[in-house]
Amino acid sequence: MLETQLFDAAKRVRLNAYVPYSNFPVACAIQSESGKIYLGVNVDNASYPETACAEANAIGAMISAGERQVKAVLVLGGHPGSGVLCTPCGGCRQRLGEFSQSDTPVYVCSDEGVQEVVTFGELLPRAFGPSNLEQK
Ligand SMILES: [Zn+2]
Repeated sequence: MLETQLFDAAKRVRLNAYVPYSNFPVACAIQSESGKIYLGVNVDNASYPETACAEANAIGAMISAGERQVKAVLVLGGHPGSGVLCTPCGGCRQRLGEFSQSDTPVYVCSDEGVQEVVTFGELLPRAFGPSNLEQK
């Protein structure tokens, strides 16, 4: 099952998050159109605004591999056992929108697994995206 694959991958990689300042590890697993899974974790920085989100890093991995279409997204945030449900931040919703469709599923997880499934369109309704820049 896709969600299980994404969840297991995110749970494994979350251990690698670099979070000495935020103390809030996040992992993101993206399945692309080809079916491959791309992973990202958040990377804090001593200059706080330079912190990179897990979703941004997963998107970067997908783009670096030459892919352009997100088929599904899973986000797992917080320390193991915390029970926190973490959705993508506003900036990452915009980043995901560049490569997602309004019906792209976003799996929101706790340590026990997927707790909610929302669509990208629910996270960022009426999103500004590539189609807004098309010349008429
Ligand atoms: Zn973010």
